[in-house]
Amino acid sequence: MFDVETIRKDFPILSQKVNNHNLVYFDNAATTQKPQAVIDAIVESYTKTNSNIHRGIHTLSQISTNLYEAARKTVQSFIHAPHDYEIIFTKGVTESLNLVAQIFSEAFLEEGDEVIVSAMEHHSNLVPWQIVCERHKAHLKFIPFNHDGVLDIEAYKNLFTEKTKFVSVVHVSNTLGTVNPIKTMIDIAHGHNVPIMIDGAQSVQHFPIDVQELDCDFFAFSGHKIYAPTGIGVLWGKEKWLEKLPPYQGGGDMIKTVTLEKTIYNDLPFKFEAGTTNYVGAHALGVALNYLTNLGMENIHSHEKDLMLYATEKLSQIPYVTIIGNAPEKAGAISFEVDGAHSADIGMILDKQGIAIRTGTHCTEPIMQYYGVPGTARMSFGLYNTRDEIDYFVKMLSKIAMMFQ
Ligand code: PMP
Repeated sequence: MFDVETIRKDFPILSQKVNNHNLVYFDNAATTQKPQAVIDAIVESYTKTNSNIHRGIHTLSQISTNLYEAARKTVQSFIHAPHDYEIIFTKGVTESLNLVAQIFSEAFLEEGDEVIVSAMEHHSNLVPWQIVCERHKAHLKFIPFNHDGVLDIEAYKNLFTEKTKFVSVVHVSNTLGTVNPIKTMIDIAHGHNVPIMIDGAQSVQHFPIDVQELDCDFFAFSGHKIYAPTGIGVLWGKEKWLEKLPPYQGGGDMIKTVTLEKTIYNDLPFKFEAGTTNYVGAHALGVALNYLTNLGMENIHSHEKDLMLYATEKLSQIPYVTIIGNAPEKAGAISFEVDGAHSADIGMILDKQGIAIRTGTHCTEPIMQYYGVPGTARMSFGLYNTRDEIDYFVKMLSKIAMMFQ
């Protein structure tokens, strides 16, 4: 049973008032709130078990190491990865995406080669590729999208040449909410023998992910967007790629032996985890994922789908409000504009009513350029949101939209 009112009690922050109103938190695409179990895991780690991992033979270090490695297995099972040693802990999806861009280009990108991304990428999956393409004199090519916010798959097919070396694409757009047809896109890339990475920052918290079924080569996400703390993220990569690729950073833990002249690198996943990692964050991420598994990702998906449809219908009926992005399949986020109003003003006035939304470019400036707008207002859902909250939001937004006419 997915009982949202009971579930809300697990999230202490939700019961507070903001600006003398009950908090309505619709900024989940930026970051999610944390259940008590995750908060407890962090507090308990620092009050009972804290010790650096992998390097100690004493009891606390072993407990800490066990918690860290158990979290790796939890992530493995959450995204259905074939092996736990393919799970690399990073500080977030941005680091995961940069890691792959840096080391893949170092190993395989040559002058004149091509990399494909979409035109709706978050800056985190665009700028790293701009950097490495410039460095290696390679070309970055873009999959266009149409006015509804849907990627043009025919155009994508036509972007491939014998020079194409890599594809990196967002699963769910944080701005448009579009769920991209990544299974099709993965199959097309593989048809050209090209590896493909998926930015799962906005998908993994909304519906079940099975990397084996998808058959992508890399999948990345952030902990803080999936009810875990900040500063922890995941990169999953196929063993065959992780074995072939050089390390990202040098330091402790990523080595087997070191002499002054030469280092033998450690096995996976440690080869990619230089230095003291965020082991407390990793443990708390494991706790968050177990929390979601107990609720059931399918249940979360259907609850949020209901919110998405309900909010879309209600927003469409508000005069002077226009939704940006009308893909047939959407998850998580709805961007909108209000005639005559700057998105920042909408956000500020809603905040006075206790409603948290995000406004601006959402780190997707090329999307803003496509629609010719300086920014949008964006409401985004989490598993604890309700239809009542949407009703309150719609009531407030209707008044505000009127005010600006
Ligand atoms: N990709 C997408 C699709 C995102 O929505 C975000 C966060 N807004 C990121 C990447 C970057 O996430 P982080 O800041 O957690 O690294």
